[in-house]
Amino acid sequence: MSLKDRIIRLIEADGPMPISMFMQMALHDPSEGYYATRSGLGQDFTTAPETSQVFGELLGAWVVHEWDVLGRPQPFHLVELGPGRGTLMVDALRAMSSSETGRACLGALQLILVEASPALRKVQAERLQHASPVFVDDLQDVPEGQMLLLANEFLDCLPARQFERDTDGTDWFEVRIGSENGELTYGRVRADLDWLLKQTVGALDHQPGLRTLCEILSHRKHPFRALFVDYGPMDQPPAGSLRAYKDGAQVDPLDQPGAQDLTVDVDFGALKTEAETAGLEILGPLPQGQFLLALGAEARMQSLVRANPNDARSIFEATKRLVDPSEMGNRFKAICLSSSGLPRTAGF
Ligand code: SAH
Repeated sequence: MSLKDRIIRLIEADGPMPISMFMQMALHDPSEGYYATRSGLGQDFTTAPETSQVFGELLGAWVVHEWDVLGRPQPFHLVELGPGRGTLMVDALRAMSSSETGRACLGALQLILVEASPALRKVQAERLQHASPVFVDDLQDVPEGQMLLLANEFLDCLPARQFERDTDGTDWFEVRIGSENGELTYGRVRADLDWLLKQTVGALDHQPGLRTLCEILSHRKHPFRALFVDYGPMDQPPAGSLRAYKDGAQVDPLDQPGAQDLTVDVDFGALKTEAETAGLEILGPLPQGQFLLALGAEARMQSLVRANPNDARSIFEATKRLVDPSEMGNRFKAICLSSSGLPRTAGF
């Protein structure tokens, strides 16, 4: 039975399904989930590290700087959440090997990859073989010890629930997924949740995983910094942001569960609140363009151009895509969550 049919059967048995559960099944179902079974990255959608090597290289430089700030711990865990095709880490590690401090950092790090997808783990294991990565299922499973963590476009795949107010603004409803004549459809059910009643907006998307993430970080016993880059608004919660991508085009999220990527916007305001509640220190969110320029994107681009003069045009175009406010520069944000009491970090 196809994943779509199994979802429909579940809805018939149990009633309309929260969007979070639909996302979980469509992305991670062991036999048909999008991430679980395919490495469609770069085909259905493109991310910053897949756009330009400058991205991973700058994050590698950030790691070296922060490792120095932490007092050069040896060993320490370099963790990546959702490494995709491993491109960011390949570029980061290569960039690290070009300086003396970077090489010392490389010698001290133990690479831990948090990856849910067996298909992508395979790609990552091959491309990062030289760094002997250890794979874990969840951030929770990263052993104790000092840690630097990178995560690009990870938060946007954490399942979200969608809520909206009635047209007269009094009652809250949850948008759920039902079925009709063998197709999936959107519907609404009453939502009487205390925290919703305090909201001032008319609709919002809520990712419960943001709280879990902050709580797991706050329970770590040793100093750490965790850098997240993703898209989403800073000043108000996202609403109705569930989207699907296939072959580079936006498609109907309900159309082919498992065969297309699903994503939501990240609520950076909510992430900040959760991080504060968990007692973490917060830097940002800052627009990606500003962050990368502060880390030296321009100089990095120029040295790439000097080494590959024939590719000058494409190197420039790709770097521009990352930093230009009208492209990825503003829509993407960087936020750094740290254990308390660390000195200031680079880039913020
Ligand atoms: N960081 C990469 C890939 C982004 S796609 C890049 O920037 O190119 C999202 C990645 O997160 C995929 O590797 C996906 O399999 C992984 N992922 C999504 N949800 C996850 C979860 N709950 N636990 C672990 N990995 C997850």
